[in-house]
Amino acid sequence: MTEHERWMAIAIEEANLGARVGEQPFGSVIARNGEALCRTRSLKVSTSDATAHSELMAVREATQKLKQRVLDGCVFYATCEPCPMCLGAIQIAGINHLVIGARKSQVRQFSKTAFRFNAYTVERFAEMVGWPLTVEQVLQEECIALYANATVELTR
Ligand SMILES: [Zn+2]
Repeated sequence: MTEHERWMAIAIEEANLGARVGEQPFGSVIARNGEALCRTRSLKVSTSDATAHSELMAVREATQKLKQRVLDGCVFYATCEPCPMCLGAIQIAGINHLVIGARKSQVRQFSKTAFRFNAYTVERFAEMVGWPLTVEQVLQEECIALYANATVELTR
């Protein structure tokens, strides 16, 4: 297992922990120098907060933990391609390396909804705003399975 896969496996674990208590199965990890700064899951359902995505929770937790607004040298792991809100937060936090599990286009449950954001991809967003973002994809089958097997409403 590569280091990227190891961190993604922890993000998947977070997604599953959330799913067990009725949350949407999204998980994130921010790692730096072989250490996790945080591991988070979506809290949208329990908090009734439309912005409580796992990725946004991760940026908040890591910046608060380090008491700094910029997360230099960090790698961001997300079980699903982050939405535009979360990707904006990742950019603003100064992270230039993103590892994703599933792409939105690979998740059938998103195909008929705005949740897929049409032609949006993280690469297109990065290109549009002039952000040199490195994107990698690992454990995609495991992450796609998270959404294929989800019992909670995923698209709102
Ligand atoms: Zn999001």
